[in-house]
Parts: sequence; C-alpha cells; structure tokens
Amino acid sequence: MLKVILFLLAGAAIVFVAWQLAGIPGHVVASIGALTIETSTPVAILVLVTLFGVTIILLRILRAVLGLPKTGAGWRRRRRRILGERIVTRVLVALAAGEKGEARKQARRARNLLGDSPQTLLLAAEAGRLSGREDEAEEAFRALAKQTEARFLGLRGLLRQAVDRRDWSEALVLAKQAEAAHPGTTWLRQQRADLALQTENWAEALELIGLDPRRTTYYVAAADGESDPRRALSFAKQAWQQDPGFAPAVLAYTSRLRAIGHEKRAQSCIADAWQRAPHPDLASFALALEPDKLARAQAAKRLVARNPTHVESRILLAQVALDAGLTGEARHQIEAAQTEGLHQRRFCLLLAEIEEQERGHTEAGRLAQRDALRRAATAEPDPRWQCTNCHTAHAAWHPRCRACAAIGTILWSDALRPSSVPVIAS
Ligand SMILES: [Zn+2]
Repeated sequence: MLKVILFLLAGAAIVFVAWQLAGIPGHVVASIGALTIETSTPVAILVLVTLFGVTIILLRILRAVLGLPKTGAGWRRRRRRILGERIVTRVLVALAAGEKGEARKQARRARNLLGDSPQTLLLAAEAGRLSGREDEAEEAFRALAKQTEARFLGLRGLLRQAVDRRDWSEALVLAKQAEAAHPGTTWLRQQRADLALQTENWAEALELIGLDPRRTTYYVAAADGESDPRRALSFAKQAWQQDPGFAPAVLAYTSRLRAIGHEKRAQSCIADAWQRAPHPDLASFALALEPDKLARAQAAKRLVARNPTHVESRILLAQVALDAGLTGEARHQIEAAQTEGLHQRRFCLLLAEIEEQERGHTEAGRLAQRDALRRAATAEPDPRWQCTNCHTAHAAWHPRCRACAAIGTILWSDALRPSSVPVIAS
C-alpha cells in the first residue's frame, strides 16, 4: 500500500514538474556553423536532460568494457574457489570412508585449486598418512608448521609421525615446540607424559600424569633413577604411601630409611607390609642384618606374627628353621602348609633338604628324598615375578618388562591370592 502511495506521489511530482517546465516561456536558439537550431525552452530542457542521461549510460558501458579482463579473472577465481570447496568435501568423504587413493588424488586437486591453505595442507597430510605415504604427509605437516596460525597443527602431525616411528628424541623436540605454539592442551600433556615414560624420565612423567593406577611403579622407578638421596627418599616414600603392601615400593622406602639410620621405622614398615602382602624379598630385607641363625629364626617368627599361616610365612619359618638346624620346626611348617592345601614346588624341595639333614645317610632317608623330589616335579609352580602383558617370568621386579616393554605390568604371580588374615589399616 505504501509503495502505491509513493508511486502516485512520484507520478504527481513528475506531472507537476513537467507542467511547470511546459509553462516556461521563451525560445532557445543554438547556432553551430551554418546550422541553427531553434526550439522552445521546455523542449530544450528536455533535450538536455535526455543527453545527460544518455551520456551516463554510455560512460557506464565504456567502463564495463574496459574492466572486462579484471571481471573475468575474478569470475575465474570464484569458480576455482567454488570447485575447490567441492573437492575439499570429496576429500573429507574419502578420508571418512577410508578410500586412500581417492583421498590422496582429491587432496592434490584441492591443493592445486585453493593453494596451500591450512585446510588443504591438513587434508593432504591426512590423505598421505591414510595411504601410507608418510613422506607426503611430512611435507604437508612441515608446510603447515611454517604458517603462524596453523603451526600447532603442523607440529602435532609431525609429533604423531615421530611417535609412530619411535623416534623419541625428535618427538621430545616437537612436543616442546608444540607446547610453545599452543600451551596447555590436554592432548599435548598426555603426549608429553607418554614420551616421558618411553624415555624413562619418571619424575617428569609423574608431574604430567594425573590419576594413574601405575603411579606406584613410577615413584619406585623415579626413586631408583634419582641421584639426589633426599629426592630419592621422597619418591620412595610416596611409592610406599601409594601402596604400602607392594614389595618393590616398600623396599624402595625401607632401604633408604635403613641408609639414613632409621632401622626401626624400616622394620615397622616391613612388618606392616608382611601383614598386607607377604613377599620373600621383605623377609630377606628384614633378616639381612642378623647373621646368627637362631636369632634369624626368632626374628622371622616376630615378622610373621600378624600373618602366621600365609604361604610365605610358612615357607619363611621352614627355611630359617632348617638353616638353624631346627628340622623338626621346619617339618612342622611344611606339613601344616600341606594340610592347608599348599602344594608348591618349593615345599617339596625343602622337605627333601630336611630328609637329607635328618637321615640322609640311611636308605630310608634317601628314599624319602627321592619321593620329595618326585613330588616337586608335579607340584604347583612357585610364585614369581611375571608380566601380566606377555606372561614372561622375571627374576626380579622391574618398572618396565624387558620382553614386551610394557610399563607397570610385572606383578608377583601369587599377588591375587588372598592373605590368610584380613588386613588392618594402621
Ligand atoms: Zn611383558
């Protein structure tokens, strides 16, 4: 409605102006050489207005003709961009579908059409990785890393490649550069933590890793790898606090306590650990400073007092009794263990030793020894350190499995068996 009103008003204005022009009196005479043009004033004004309009139109046409090459270039650029965007979509689809050849081909086309933008470089790199062309991917990632805005993307790609080929020194350099380019990312923190573990920089790994069930392992390893005794003691203490029943953690702590003269505290921690999870290495440590065999037997009894029927308690008491020549006590412990259903190989071997000590010079003694050794061949295996990842047995505990390189996977094979008495937290 408003448009109609405006149209009518404009029409009325034009009619009014035309009316006014038509009412202007007089004549206009123009002489050009021999040519003389004479007309009324309104017609002359109309001609002038018309000539003005025609001139403007002609100028516009001229400008359009002169700007034609530039317009053509712009049109071609727009066309390349539109086509390039379509090709980018095709690359994304090919990458998502896992079509290696198609992704690589379309990524090249996108790069030709759109140039080396962060988007096309990243797609070219990912297509290269998908196709197994790590050289192409690396070239694209390096080009990305040179671009200020996309530097992190390039470094991230190069870091992933370095990790894949297990080039830890290169990966460490790239991780530091990526951290500088874009600090504080969770992904990068995890990557740096993994690198610290791979390069066995346990202290740095502990700083970077959050909650992790293997922290006890890292603390023990950090303590063993630390040259400063105070820092080593601190790491060892944290290992023990994390898991006061894990023998390597307990021994890492108690050995350092012993080194600084805190023997009573060390023995207390060992006794506590024995109650939680008895282990032969704990007993070796606890009795190491006692050379007298009878005194060792007494010390062993005190050590196992809060967990006397555990298999490790039985075997320890039998061993120290046998060493002290107390074959009756040793035999009692072994028979008690067998009554409790414990039939490990080491019990049979100890029994053979007892037979040898007691009546090894008699025919009955030799027969009893042979019988014990025969039973050892078919008895249950003794507990041992074993990798839960590759099942390789190890003579001693290590933070990393020497066979499969897994970290924190070596456990005492008897560890899952419940202790004989409930653990009371102290
Ligand atoms: Zn392993």
